[in-house]
Amino acid sequence: MLPFPREETLSNLSTVVIVGRPNVGKSTLFNRLLGRRKALVHDMPGVTRDRNLAIVQREGRSFQLVDTGGLLGATEDPLISLVEDQVAIAIEGGDRVLFVVDGKEGLLPIERDLAARLRKLGKPVALVVNKVDAPGHELRGAEFHALGLSPVFTVSAEHGGGMEPLWDFVLEGIPPEEEAEEADPLRPAEEGPIKVAIVGRPNVGKSSLLNRLLGEERALVSEIPGTTRDPIDVTVRAAGREFTVVDTAGIRRHAKTGPGAEILSVVLARRALEQCHVALLVLDASQKPGHQDAHIAGLIEAARRGVVLILNKWDLVKGEGASREVEEAVLEKFAFMDYLPIVRVSARSGRATEKVLPAAARAYRNYAQALPTAALNKKLQQIVLRVSPPTIQGKELKLRYVTQTGQAPPILTVFTNSKVPPPVNYSRYLKKELRQAYDLLGSPLILKFRKE
Ligand code: GDP
Repeated sequence: MLPFPREETLSNLSTVVIVGRPNVGKSTLFNRLLGRRKALVHDMPGVTRDRNLAIVQREGRSFQLVDTGGLLGATEDPLISLVEDQVAIAIEGGDRVLFVVDGKEGLLPIERDLAARLRKLGKPVALVVNKVDAPGHELRGAEFHALGLSPVFTVSAEHGGGMEPLWDFVLEGIPPEEEAEEADPLRPAEEGPIKVAIVGRPNVGKSSLLNRLLGEERALVSEIPGTTRDPIDVTVRAAGREFTVVDTAGIRRHAKTGPGAEILSVVLARRALEQCHVALLVLDASQKPGHQDAHIAGLIEAARRGVVLILNKWDLVKGEGASREVEEAVLEKFAFMDYLPIVRVSARSGRATEKVLPAAARAYRNYAQALPTAALNKKLQQIVLRVSPPTIQGKELKLRYVTQTGQAPPILTVFTNSKVPPPVNYSRYLKKELRQAYDLLGSPLILKFRKE
């Protein structure tokens, strides 16, 4: 099987979830753990930055950090729903949990309740007593220890006190990333299962689609409890190939609504994206695509994975006018990703679901293809003849030759006579033309420039 793109080799990304009632300092701790320079927050068009999620790198290790702050919805009893949402995220998405309490204020009954639920998770849960600004001075120690959670850390998220021992807990068990090997980036594709991830917002029909793809019997495969993460990968054959649907544990569970479910869908998407070649982005075609759908699409693009857009619930789209409206809304929302193949299905009735895996296979073929150098350069000459490159700092920019320097997804490096890359509009033109010369539907294309 092809290697994953070099920048994205963080397979099995570990997830640390911060929980706690409002005002204990969860987001201050989130920012403290992020550090400014250490955070890799992808800034993609069409995607706003995640306030609640980030990939953190420290000491050669990476993990996903989730802040459950800001979860309080306008429900009847917001605190109860907060606990439910936080516990759900910790169960489904977390490998380690940081339960933050306020060292000055002491405990509320809801926190005893949350602690009791967290104790039963069978995952490492640390109690983080925050706002302890004087080092070594822990207030209300007995009260906190009575929660029965260990280890206990006293910190000041605001001032940075007490963070070192907490870091040790957070990083424990996360292996350092391997040094990038200097291998031939154009390793040939071997036959093997295509790894597919099903991602999307809650209730768009991910688990219904999964059941369809696996066939009824295979969908009954039970999950293995007791592991910290429950990653269940299932393999299925279609169109003469094997496909492994990765990390299905989260999708299979009961769907729920509310802000917790939304955050969870992003946590699960990020994790599954680390492990797949092709993402199936599922939308509910009976609703206008929204910000959160575009957000998940942006994550797929940032992770440089192949992609197929699945317009599910197509049975609810009645008439030609309605279908056109849906399609236009989709094109507009995903204009920043102009390479999306679209498959319209009904997971409920099973209509057209047999087209999904063949579409994933095509996206994978495009994603993993080798672009022969001679033909690439012929194409480059034509492109340059049609619109010549601009002048940079008084000097005519020359695009001398192009060669593929990475595979899955294709990375093309264009060698030029300038240290300065061409202006955005020219490189956009170039990319568009190169895309058109090849079948790259469902795959990103990365263009790099280097002075010869
Ligand atoms: P998930 O949260 O994305 O896994 O979504 P589910 O698979 O649990 O589906 C959410 C709801 O949408 C359920 O009530 C499904 O029965 C329904 N649903 C799923 N696919 C379709 C479809 O193709 N058409 C219609 N009408 N309903 C669907």
